[in-house]
Amino acid sequence: MFNLRIFATSILLILLLAGCAPSAESCPSFFPVDRSDAEMFARDDNLHFRFPLDGRVYAARFSTSFAAYGQVSRSMGQSGFEYHAAEDSLQPAGTPVYAMADGQVSFSGPMQGHGWLIIIDHPLANLYSLYGHLSPSRWQIEPGPVAKGELIGFLGDSDENGGSAEHPLRTHLHFGVRAGQRSDYPGLGQWRWQAGWMRPCPQDLGWLQPSAIITGQDIPAGGFPEPAEGFVVIWGLELFIAGIYLFGGVGVLVYAIRRNKPFVLVLNGVLLMTAGWISHSKGTRLSYALLAMSVLLLAIGIYEIVRRSSGMPRTQS
Ligand SMILES: [Zn+2]
Repeated sequence: MFNLRIFATSILLILLLAGCAPSAESCPSFFPVDRSDAEMFARDDNLHFRFPLDGRVYAARFSTSFAAYGQVSRSMGQSGFEYHAAEDSLQPAGTPVYAMADGQVSFSGPMQGHGWLIIIDHPLANLYSLYGHLSPSRWQIEPGPVAKGELIGFLGDSDENGGSAEHPLRTHLHFGVRAGQRSDYPGLGQWRWQAGWMRPCPQDLGWLQPSAIITGQDIPAGGFPEPAEGFVVIWGLELFIAGIYLFGGVGVLVYAIRRNKPFVLVLNGVLLMTAGWISHSKGTRLSYALLAMSVLLLAIGIYEIVRRSSGMPRTQS
């Protein structure tokens, strides 16, 4: 039994390392940002950026956060998953929307899925901002220069914001920020300059986490060509969660083997497999660690149950 424990622990350590290793196609995770000072960001003229809704409004939780690989995805059936390239804030129709920074309105018009869409170029910061689901019936701003905090439009009703009478869309702002300029993204493909949801990781195509940009405020020379976060910021959250799961799993394994309760192993194996399956459907690397550990717990649990029911050959001589 002692050897079995050593063996199981070694396997789990290997799984922990393998399951959390960053894969080649991965990209940085979004990370939580404190927006409690949103009003300060709106009032302070020395800051480059502000939130596009009034402070207190925007400080509320996003209805849909910025997606990183495996997070904030939606299933498209056969064609896999799509990831959210912006931050959505659920607000009533008619809510005013403001420019996040000085710049140039380079697009103001109808766009499929967005209702009325506005794009503002911010060449000094080498990025552009995108405001979707606006109201064409209330106001249609003309292209031209705008200042930070200037009113650019209002949120649209559910039948004019990209939705229709048959398929109404919840009234919300879709706010995206992208490194570079629109001209850096030519072509008419699915992930062109106005993308809302996309199959690749949004960061890989230059989309940035808007709230992180606004609260960070730094404009590196030449703009924001690549997200440049350290390993801990990028992987810290997932490593932490994986650690909790696997620590719990090891605890269960040791407990069940010591107390000779294989059914506990089977039950936890099933629970972990469910968690792993859900995690996998979200596309996280964490899922492999969960699934592998569930298989290990199930295998040991079932082996112990079968060994017992077949007359416990090791304990009865
Ligand atoms: Zn959105």
